[in-house]
Amino acid sequence: MSKVIVIGAGIGGMSAAARLAKAGHDVTIFESSDRTGGKCRTKWIGNYAFDTGPSLLTLPAVYRDLFLKTGKRIEHVLEIQPVDPAFEYNFADKTKLTFPNLSLKGICDSIESVLGKAAGDEWHNLMQRAEHMWDVSRTPFVESELKSIRSLIAKKGFLSDLRVIAPLLSLRKLTSQYTKNPYLSKIVDRYATYSGSDPRKVPAVLLTIAFVESSFGAWHIKGGIGQLAVALETRCRELGVKFELNSPVTSINHDSKIATGITVGNQTHKADFVVANADAEIVYNKLLSSDLNIVKSERKKLAGSTKSLAGFSLLLGLNNNKLSGPAPKMPHHSIYFPENYDAEFDNIFEKKIPVSEPTIYICVPNDPKMVKGENLEAWSILINAPRHEPGSGWDWNNNSSLYAAKIIAKLDELGLQVSERLEVMEYETPADLENSVGAPGGSIYGTSSNGARSAFMRAKNTSPLKNLFCVGGSAHPGGGLPLVGISAEIVAEAIGKASL
Ligand SMILES: Cc1cc2nc3c(=O)[nH]c(=O)nc-3n(C[C@H](O)[C@H](O)[C@H](O)COP(=O)(O)OP(=O)(O)OC[C@H]3O[C@@H](n4cnc5c(N)ncnc54)[C@H](O)[C@@H]3O)c2cc1C
Repeated sequence: MSKVIVIGAGIGGMSAAARLAKAGHDVTIFESSDRTGGKCRTKWIGNYAFDTGPSLLTLPAVYRDLFLKTGKRIEHVLEIQPVDPAFEYNFADKTKLTFPNLSLKGICDSIESVLGKAAGDEWHNLMQRAEHMWDVSRTPFVESELKSIRSLIAKKGFLSDLRVIAPLLSLRKLTSQYTKNPYLSKIVDRYATYSGSDPRKVPAVLLTIAFVESSFGAWHIKGGIGQLAVALETRCRELGVKFELNSPVTSINHDSKIATGITVGNQTHKADFVVANADAEIVYNKLLSSDLNIVKSERKKLAGSTKSLAGFSLLLGLNNNKLSGPAPKMPHHSIYFPENYDAEFDNIFEKKIPVSEPTIYICVPNDPKMVKGENLEAWSILINAPRHEPGSGWDWNNNSSLYAAKIIAKLDELGLQVSERLEVMEYETPADLENSVGAPGGSIYGTSSNGARSAFMRAKNTSPLKNLFCVGGSAHPGGGLPLVGISAEIVAEAIGKASL
């Protein structure tokens, strides 16, 4: 049995801790804040519960596997529900496309009924390519440690896989080979934002996200996606994992080749293995001493990577009893696209200013466990945003309330009757995310996938500093709940091998 210290009680940290404790290790998690879950949280404000982080669960198999392998099946601890329709897409010219859940045929039929047969066929062909890409990329790029380009080249069938993945093609370019339909292109573009990126720059292989979402479904967890964090904490405690909350780790200790433990304030704690769930930028640039040469390559990669976009969230509690007529009917997930989608990416990544006509994502769970009272709706809204970079970029400490008011005015303009029934309103800026969970600049996903080499620019799961491992959204294979859960599996397996 080895002593393992985990830095951070985010989903990645707790998922790794549960797997390691189940394997017999003595695990302690040090968490800087007073709660677990990190970005994944359901927050009550008055009579309304909001998912302030993830509001969509995809690839639930990752967490089914985790709960099954660490104790009772997920169905015993969480009520996971498919969301139907999965998404409703609204365009500036009032065109509306509804994507049913878990049915490629249903999606194609729906597209065909609005945009014609050719568009339905184009989506079908795109998803065929996406499935092919998923088949060849899943094992080497997602489920395994990505060690080097050389290790991939050595793989049997590498050249034919390469043709499928088309690594030098951007998502936008690949889409244009299959469809010129502007509505479908916008929908595909949006999948780049699932990794905090720009569709004009991310590798074409991100098309797999669209395939994964439509084939394995869009899911909700009763009570809020934040219940995943609650269930994970419970599972960890059942397995004997110890939690030290309000304990910000100030350094990772080492003997210049091997990690030996951590320091919290003036207390040092020894460990055989350290698992860092804090953002990789913090791990390499703040927690490890600056003279540690062995991690130079990781620091260089991080410095050269583009950071993921950030988010401006609005939490709106709406009381429909305040309306004289019926409230507009909202699906669980809806998207309102602007006329000019490219302006959003120019503003965020180049000009570093808030988007004046942003895409608006609205999540309205039809979940009685997320409101206390009749005719109440809890809306979580996410607007893609530039990072919090006072001095060199946007400073979210200024004018954020004006931005919130502008978004609410836009929602009214869309006919959603928000102001009339508004009972609760809070907003969270990228600066708030940075302060609450230590996400540098408020980046949602660590580094973005912008650029053909982006997958290789993320922190490796196994650090060059022996016995240090990185887990979570800023490490391989990237951000979002499914990938974070996979990173925990990779790390637990690597520690299993290292402790033999
Ligand atoms: C607004 C928003 C919407 C999102 N929507 C979705 C979605 O719909 N679907 C989806 O799948 N994903 C979504 N995500 C992404 C998803 O939430 C993250 O990828 C995932 O939760 C990150 O988990 P993590 O393990 O990387 O840890 P994090 O959540 O980043 O947690 C890291 C933990 O480490 C702690 N920590 C940091 N530094 C230290 C230190 N020095 N000492 C001790 N502790 C430390 C932090 O306090 C935190 O608790 C969203 C995220 C946000 C913010």
